[in-house]
Amino acid sequence: MSGKKQVQTLLSTTTYRPPEGFAAFPAAIHHASTVLFENVAALRARHWQDKRSYTYGLHGTPTTFTLEARLAEIEGGEHCLLAPSGLAAISMIDLALLKTGDDVLLPENVYNPNREMGNWLARDFGIGVRYYDPLMGEAIAELIQPNTRLVWTEAPGSVSMEVPDIPAICRAAKARQVPVALDNTWSAGLAFRAFEHGVDIVMQALTKYHSGGSDVLMGAVITRERELHRKIELAHMRLGMGVSPDDTYLVLRGLPTMKLRFEAHDKAAREIAAWLKQRPEIVKVLHPAFDDCPGHPVWRRDFSGAGGLFSVLFDPRFTEEQTDSFIDRLTLFKIGYSWGGANSLAVPYRMAQMRREWRETGQLVRLNIGLEDPRDLITDLEQALTALA
Ligand SMILES: *Cc1c(COP(=O)(O)O)cnc(C)c1O
Repeated sequence: MSGKKQVQTLLSTTTYRPPEGFAAFPAAIHHASTVLFENVAALRARHWQDKRSYTYGLHGTPTTFTLEARLAEIEGGEHCLLAPSGLAAISMIDLALLKTGDDVLLPENVYNPNREMGNWLARDFGIGVRYYDPLMGEAIAELIQPNTRLVWTEAPGSVSMEVPDIPAICRAAKARQVPVALDNTWSAGLAFRAFEHGVDIVMQALTKYHSGGSDVLMGAVITRERELHRKIELAHMRLGMGVSPDDTYLVLRGLPTMKLRFEAHDKAAREIAAWLKQRPEIVKVLHPAFDDCPGHPVWRRDFSGAGGLFSVLFDPRFTEEQTDSFIDRLTLFKIGYSWGGANSLAVPYRMAQMRREWRETGQLVRLNIGLEDPRDLITDLEQALTALA
C-alpha cells in the first residue's frame, strides 16, 4: 500500500511487521476474535476443526493450541480441548455424549457440581442418571444398561477420598462399548496415568495444580480416540467454549514447575497426615496413601504419588460447632474452596447431607496442604487442636 493515510486510519491499522526470528521460552499471548485471511480462497479453504490453521478466535489461537498440545502430551493423549473452568469441561463432556433417553453413571462421591449437573440432566433433559458405589470395581458391569452412554469416575473422590479401581471399571465398560470419563484433577495427570489404565476421556481442572497460582479458572478434556474427540469438539464449538489467552498463558507458565510443586505438596501432606493420625482428636485420616482410606490398596497398585489434598475425620465427641471453631483458630491455613495453590486451606463438609449412605459420625475437614514449611503448618494445627480440648 502506498500513499499517506489520515491519522485516524493510522491509529487503526499498520503495515509494520516486526522482524522474523524472535525466539524465547514463553508462548506468545495472542489476543484475537477476528482472525485474518490473506484472501477469499484462504477463507474458503480453512475449516474450524483443522488445527493446522486458524479461522476464528473462539476456535483457537497459537496460544490455546500450544496449551492443548502440551496437555495432550503430558497426559499421554492425542487431543485436547480447553474450557473456561473445570466444571465447564465436565458439562461439555456430558452435553457431547448424552441425549434424551440415554443413561449415565456417576460415582456416589462425585465432585458436587458434577452431581448438580447430573441432577439437571435428569430433571430437565430426560437423561437417566444413576449413582454407583465408587468401590464396586468390575461389579459396575451389572449397572450398565443398553442405553448407558457414559461412566464418570473420579480418582479419588475429592472430599471423601475413596480410591476406585479404575482399570476394573474400564474393563467392565469397555466390554459394553461405554466410554469412561475420569476427573483426574487430584493426580494432576502426574500420579495417575489415566489412558494406560483404560480411561477414554480425561478431564482436568487446570485451576488446581496446572496453574498453581490460585489465580485462574480453566479446564481441559483430553482424549486419544479421534471419534470421541470429534464429538466433544462439536459440543465445544456449539457451546462457545472460549478461554482467554492471558489465562492460557498463566496455565502454560505453571507447567514447568508443576511436578516439583506436586511432589512438594505430596511430601508435606504425608508428613502432616502422619502427624494428624497420631492425634487423639482425629479418628481417621482419609489420605489415599494411608490405610484408613477406602481403596488404599488400589492407590498403592495404580498411583505413583498423592499431591496435597486429603481429609480427616474428627472424633465424634466433637460437635460441628467445635470443629468449625478449630478451623477458625487456624492462622496459616486459610478458609476457602479449591486447592493446588501455594497456600494451605481448610474446609468443613457436611457429609450426611452430601451422601445418603455416609456412615461416619465424626466431622470431616478437608485440608489442602500448600507450599509452606510443614513444620509451621503442624504448629498451626497443634495450637488449634489444643484449643479444642
Ligand atoms: C475444582 C474441581 C473441579 C472444577 O474445577 P473449576 O475450574 O473450579 O470449575 C472439578 N473436579 C474436581 C475434583 C475439582 O476439585
